[in-house]
Amino acid sequence: MSWHSVIGQERVKKILQRSFTTNKISHAYLFHGPEGTGKDAAAIAFSKLLNCEHPDNGNSCNTCSNCKRISSLQHPNLQFIVSMPVGKNEKEGDDPFKNLDQKTITEYRQAIADKAENPYYRINLAKANTIKINSIREIRKSINLARAEHGKKVIVISGADKMNDSAANSLLKTLEEPTPNTVIILTTSNHDKLLPTIISRCQMVRFELLREEEVRKGLIERDKTLDEQQAILISKMANGSFQRAQELTGADLVSQREEMIDLLRNILARSPSVWMKEIEGFLGPKDRYNVVRSLMLLNLWVRDAMMLQNDNGDAIVNLDQQEPLDKFIAHFDQADLTAVINAIERAIALVEKNIYLSLVLLNLAFDIRQFIVRR
Ligand SMILES: [Zn+2]
Repeated sequence: MSWHSVIGQERVKKILQRSFTTNKISHAYLFHGPEGTGKDAAAIAFSKLLNCEHPDNGNSCNTCSNCKRISSLQHPNLQFIVSMPVGKNEKEGDDPFKNLDQKTITEYRQAIADKAENPYYRINLAKANTIKINSIREIRKSINLARAEHGKKVIVISGADKMNDSAANSLLKTLEEPTPNTVIILTTSNHDKLLPTIISRCQMVRFELLREEEVRKGLIERDKTLDEQQAILISKMANGSFQRAQELTGADLVSQREEMIDLLRNILARSPSVWMKEIEGFLGPKDRYNVVRSLMLLNLWVRDAMMLQNDNGDAIVNLDQQEPLDKFIAHFDQADLTAVINAIERAIALVEKNIYLSLVLLNLAFDIRQFIVRR
């Protein structure tokens, strides 16, 4: 049950459980792999196991006071370090919080509460670009304090690649002199940005992209109100990152998809002078991310049409669209849908590169007409 907060990553869970049950716990771990795949979530779950009063075969009980306080990120044995803004006149050796204004401290407390509530939450404090040396120096102070009577002290450095040089060198000194009963866990999606001397002192644990199925199940388990069709679309678009999936749940993907299908119909049925206006109207209030999301939805829909064209109906994603998709391929039986998908993918790449949005969409519209209507 204790690993329930971590989606997928069965191999990682086994490695950590085995190191616990065989009592071969490293002094330092480096959890690395793509963003949003559960590295922080696993670090918190492992801290819980290391401090649980009644662990059972590599699982924490999830109900003892230690488990509860670790889950809420409120246990003295767990120190969770993230990037923070540098305070006014902050000097080396200062308490990392001392020089921050009240607003920043409130923002930090809220972010930690959000992370406790949802370990996949992305902490992103304003002006917090680095992990400060003063945060790393706190580690030594806390290690030197009398250790708790039970469990292990765990220090999680989340987004460890954000350490600046002095912070990294300070951490290196700590890693060179391991303290019994202390475990340091670094998490990062850019481990090549860490000092090789730091990496060599850690046990590497690699996290993989999540499978669509795992993302979809995780979403539905955490939000019972989430519509199944919406969960399928999100898991397709999340590219293996649960964090990204959660960020997509706020958007109404089903209506966004409808809007794209309407636009597609207009592009195919009406004259350019009409749909050029439609495109401007469509772009009106949208930012770049929004446009990318719409194009991804269109792409999934056209992909489904291609699946049906190839008699591969079992593979479709837009399950509620069977009828319009059937009509579409019957009507445009000469359509080159592979070319359409390639054109949409090119357009997504251009939008991401900051190319003028309406130009990209107009070009895409002309391509779509050419590849679908084919006359
Ligand atoms: Zn427990």
